[in-house]
Amino acid sequence: MFDVVIIGAGPAGASAALFTAKAGKKTLLVDNEKSMTKRAWVENHYGVEEITGAGLVELGKKQAAKFGAELVQATVTDIRKDGENFVVETDQQQYEAGNVILATGVLVDLAEKVGLNVKPGTEPRIKTVLDVDADGKTNIEGIWAAGTVAGVSVHTIVTAGDGAKVAINLLSTLKGERYVDHDLLKS
Ligand SMILES: Cc1cc2nc3c(=O)[nH]c(=O)nc-3n(C[C@H](O)[C@H](O)[C@H](O)COP(=O)(O)OP(=O)(O)OC[C@H]3O[C@@H](n4cnc5c(N)ncnc54)[C@H](O)[C@@H]3O)c2cc1C
Repeated sequence: MFDVVIIGAGPAGASAALFTAKAGKKTLLVDNEKSMTKRAWVENHYGVEEITGAGLVELGKKQAAKFGAELVQATVTDIRKDGENFVVETDQQQYEAGNVILATGVLVDLAEKVGLNVKPGTEPRIKTVLDVDADGKTNIEGIWAAGTVAGVSVHTIVTAGDGAKVAINLLSTLKGERYVDHDLLKS
């Protein structure tokens, strides 16, 4: 049983997994290697002078794994409610999750199959996105969305930031008060 299963390990999903794993939540990151970011050459990501999109994606996964996030290369085919929790089905096996974060980029097929509300996208070349509230909550309690699929600007710093925002909102909901993750420089 995972506290959170995150679908999509692009900037949005891996950034969310970094926060949930670092908060000690049992985190699973599932991805099927179709990130649009892999085609990017990135020179506008604050704090990183220049990097290939593929390099940024690999670094993000490494950061999440450092804090214990489990990474699985698979395609999620369905998400079903099962009592209090969710069953996340992949093309290989199924997992149980307390919460789910969708960070599937331009792909909304899974979201539509699961019955999540969608709306027309407003960003260039983004046709359809999920209808989420300001916290990243979808119309199904316990399923959240972040990044391109949640309608934010299609830039790595923004999608990574949105992944962090949604993870912090989920962690705050679980904690019952606002969550903060600050580390101190050791003197
Ligand atoms: C050619 C190109 C150049 C770009 N250049 C820049 C740039 O210079 N600077 C910049 O800031 N941004 C750039 N971008 C945009 C950047 O890639 C996106 O803004 C952003 O980072 C997307 O992040 P994401 O996490 O929302 O989606 P993605 O990175 O697309 O990640 C989504 C992930 O979800 C996975 N997934 C989807 N459905 C499933 C499923 N059912 N099961 C399992 N996994 C699933 C996919 O495999 C994918 O890995 C560029 C994009 C392109 C295409």
